[in-house]
Amino acid sequence: MVIMVVSEKYVSKNKNPLVVEQPYSILYKHSFGEISPYFIGLKNKRLYGTVCRNKEKHKNGKDLLFLPPRADCPECMAELHEWVDLTDAVFRIYTFTTTYFAGESFLDKLPITLINVEVEGYDNSYSKLTSVLVVDEQGEYNIDRKDVKIGMRIKPKFRDVPQEKIDSSALYFVPLKE
Ligand SMILES: [Zn+2]
Repeated sequence: MVIMVVSEKYVSKNKNPLVVEQPYSILYKHSFGEISPYFIGLKNKRLYGTVCRNKEKHKNGKDLLFLPPRADCPECMAELHEWVDLTDAVFRIYTFTTTYFAGESFLDKLPITLINVEVEGYDNSYSKLTSVLVVDEQGEYNIDRKDVKIGMRIKPKFRDVPQEKIDSSALYFVPLKE
């Protein structure tokens, strides 16, 4: 890389420059776009996915469930407007791992068990939601890895999160007591 100095008069030689402090803030607007109902659902302690029923246009000939939701079907390109409430569905662990580092929302809870979940009763080609598994309904995180099994039945739970922080950290799963 070549750095060119246009003129010596633009190069400061002042080692003690004047520094003033001024308040500075911005209002950041984040749009959830076409999948807004998913995040509104989390806020209201509901879990929604989208469905495409153009089964004749799908490779496997079945209705497709999207969780996390998609606004458009990747197989038939249809815009998706049908939302299904999965809050009371039974979920299964498709796969899982333990992580010892995570984003800000989970830094004080490490290690955590990350899971991919599937929904019973649906074709799950496009529904492998990533979430966290916790021990109990009070939200204790440190589940023993030995207690986690692929295929284990689980159910979704929801945390209260501030309006401005709404994201997928509002959702977690607990083992289903049978
Ligand atoms: Zn489709």
